[in-house]
Amino acid sequence: MERKLVSIQKVDHLEDIPGADSILRARVMGWDVVVRKGEFRVGDACVFFEIDSQLPEGKDWAEFLRPRGFRVKTARLRGVLSQGLALPVSILGGEVPPVGTDVREPLGVVKFEPTPPEGSDVAAPFPVEVPKTDEIRLQSALGVLDELRGHDFYVTTKLDGTSATFFKTLDGTLVACSRNWSLRPGTSKVWLMAQKYDLATVLPPGFAIQGELCGPSVQKNRLALDAVDLFVFSVHDTRTEQYLGHSEFLAFCTRLGLRTVPVEHVVTGEAARTFDHSLEHYLKLAQGTYSGTKNRKEGIVIRPLVERTSPTLGGSRLSFKVINNDFLLKDED
Ligand code: ATP
Ligand code: MN
Ligand code: MN
Repeated sequence: MERKLVSIQKVDHLEDIPGADSILRARVMGWDVVVRKGEFRVGDACVFFEIDSQLPEGKDWAEFLRPRGFRVKTARLRGVLSQGLALPVSILGGEVPPVGTDVREPLGVVKFEPTPPEGSDVAAPFPVEVPKTDEIRLQSALGVLDELRGHDFYVTTKLDGTSATFFKTLDGTLVACSRNWSLRPGTSKVWLMAQKYDLATVLPPGFAIQGELCGPSVQKNRLALDAVDLFVFSVHDTRTEQYLGHSEFLAFCTRLGLRTVPVEHVVTGEAARTFDHSLEHYLKLAQGTYSGTKNRKEGIVIRPLVERTSPTLGGSRLSFKVINNDFLLKDED
C-alpha cells in the first residue's frame, strides 16, 4: 500500500517537555512528534507529515524547514525524539476534511527520493503483474498488531541495500527491475545478480522473486560484504496473484540456490499466542547490529507465516517494518 505521506490526523496526547517552554511532545497515530505550544489541544485535527515529506518552497508554513532543505526528518529536540511534523489544519485554507484524508497533493508535498533512477539502464516501466516492493511503518498502521495477534509469524532483518525484482513472464522472458523500473540487460548490479543465479534458466515462468541487493557501493554496505549479493524477501506467483507463505518461500529459495534475508525469529504456537504485540516491544526488537558487524541494523520486517491480507493496509498483504530508532538518528533518515 502507498502510505499516506501527508494526511489529516488527530492529536491523541500532549505532554510537557522538561525544560522547554515553547514546545510540547504530541502523539499522532503511533508517532511521537514535537509541536509548538498553544497550537493544538488534545483531540484536535492536524495535518500530519510523515518522515521523508519534501515540503514545497514558497509556502509560509514550510519556511521554517528551509535550513533543512524543506525535508521532514527524524530529529531530537530537547532530548525528545520527533518523528514527522504536525501543523494546524488552517494551513489548508478552507474546509477541514475528515481524519485519514490524504492531503499530500493539494499541499504540494512530494516524497523525498534519495537515489536517482538508473537513467540510462531503464528499459521499461515496472511489470504490471508484480507488486512493487514496499513496507508500511508500524507507527503508521498500528492496526496491523491486532491483525497479527494469535497468528504464527516471523521476523526478518531489514537490510539496507536496494530493491531488486526478477520476473519470468509466462512466455519465458526474464525481466529484471530496480525499485521502480525494468532495466535493460547489461552490466548493472541487478543484471549481474540475474547472471550469478542463472535466473533466466532456473526461475519458473509466472514467478517473481524480490530481494535486497547489498554489497560494496550499495548504500553504506552495512553488511560489510566483499561482493554484491541478493537477499530474497518475497516470492510472488503472478498466476495466482499470491505471495508464497514462509515455508514454501524458504523451500523455493533453497531449490534455486538463493540466499534469503536473515530470519531472526519464527514465533509459533503458545509463544505466538502470548507474544507482546506492543509498539514498544517491536521497537526493542528492531535494535541491534547486523550479525558479524558493528553496524546498526536498519530494522526488522514482520509477516505472518501463512500469508494474510490486512484490512488496515487496504487489503494488501499483512507485512510491516519497524525501523531501528538508533539507526534513524545516526543516519538522519
Ligand atoms: P519509506 O517510504 O517508509 O521510507 P521506502 O519506500 O524508502 O519506505 P524502505 O524504507 O527501504 O522503503 O522499506 C521498504 C523496503 O525495504 C522494501 O522495498 C525492500 O526493498 C527493503 N527490505 C530490506 N530488507 C527487507 C526485508 N527483510 N523484508 C522486506 N523488505 C526488505
Ligand atoms: Mn530501503
Ligand atoms: Mn525509507
